[in-house]
Amino acid sequence: MRDIRMVDLQQQYHKIKQEIDEEIQKVLDSTAFINGPAVKQFQSNLESYLNVRHVIPCGNGTDALMVALMALGLQRGDEVITSTFTFIASAEVIAVLGLTPVLVDVRPDTFNMDMEAVEKAITPRTKAVIPVHLFGQCADMERLTEIAKRHNLHIVEDACQSIGATFRFSDGRTAKAGTMGDFGCTSFFPSKNLGCYGDGGALFTNDDELARKARGIVNHGMFVRYYHDMVGVNSRLDSIQAAILDVKLRHLDEYIAARQQAAAAYTEKLRTCDGLVTPAIAPFTTHVFHQYTLLLKNADREKVIAHMQEHGVPVMIYYPVPLHEQKAYQDPRYHKGDFPVSESLCRHCISLPMHTELDDEQIAHITSHLIDAVNRY
Ligand SMILES: *Cc1c(COP(=O)(O)O)cnc(C)c1O
Repeated sequence: MRDIRMVDLQQQYHKIKQEIDEEIQKVLDSTAFINGPAVKQFQSNLESYLNVRHVIPCGNGTDALMVALMALGLQRGDEVITSTFTFIASAEVIAVLGLTPVLVDVRPDTFNMDMEAVEKAITPRTKAVIPVHLFGQCADMERLTEIAKRHNLHIVEDACQSIGATFRFSDGRTAKAGTMGDFGCTSFFPSKNLGCYGDGGALFTNDDELARKARGIVNHGMFVRYYHDMVGVNSRLDSIQAAILDVKLRHLDEYIAARQQAAAAYTEKLRTCDGLVTPAIAPFTTHVFHQYTLLLKNADREKVIAHMQEHGVPVMIYYPVPLHEQKAYQDPRYHKGDFPVSESLCRHCISLPMHTELDDEQIAHITSHLIDAVNRY
């Protein structure tokens, strides 16, 4: 059996090596390393794939979130709602911009933002909501869009883990993750579902004026060369990364299918194990399985993880600490116990290896050792 990795980029690269190497060589030959034709081409192909008017490439997913909040013109003291069970980036950009984060709990089944909690957290100072489409499935965007409209709030979707996921509205309309809010943001970090070979990210929007602003902000707030109309940053996707992404975008649907297949195989083998809760998929979204995250009902997590590692199975905890308990984000408004669902998920979740190259033998090995460990500990 091949070594089991949390993410297996080596195997994936080998399958597309020739295409990738050729495209990288073209960029090297052109020496158009920044804003070259490869960036425009990828941007346009991603716009078509997502069916969105504008893709604005940038340096990474965290910058995408920051630029979105800047383009929306949020001011110091404005409140931005996000969930406490997620990667740090959304709270980080809110803090960096001097905005006020307002945290809400998540749903115990999908781990996504609890929309009842969002509604309760709204105050006259609330200006925006950042729903995180966590682990690969969309938060309830229909409900959130309705709430946002009623309270005049902006929506910035964090689609860093969910590129390619499809949301279905009750009238039958569908939309890709990241194309429903004022902005959607994604990351092309190597381990993401559409990953490059370095750092990269992008914003998505259907609003021409917001797109214009975001394009200026990622380029020093410059709309005409050396005339700076807004405070901006330097955040670019380089041409080599864009060339790589353009190749991988052609394979994205097949990558998503491979992840979904691996997830279905995991669930099939694990769903009858009493000590585990397998991932639930909300009825209004597809799940692109950036992570396959389970809950251990009673088993001792440390012992389960040690057992898995002894048998050559890497396991990760996404995420061990909710945002409101992070040292750098201590806030007198929040205390341990305020977000019971997120706190419980942090104590009980484990994520299994998930990537495009898992085979049946590996999945059988992983699941049989997990069932053993859960029964034993
Ligand atoms: C990866 C990730 C980010 C940040 O992306 P970077 O490209 O690493 O800056 C933000 N939010 C979520 C949910 C992520 O998973």
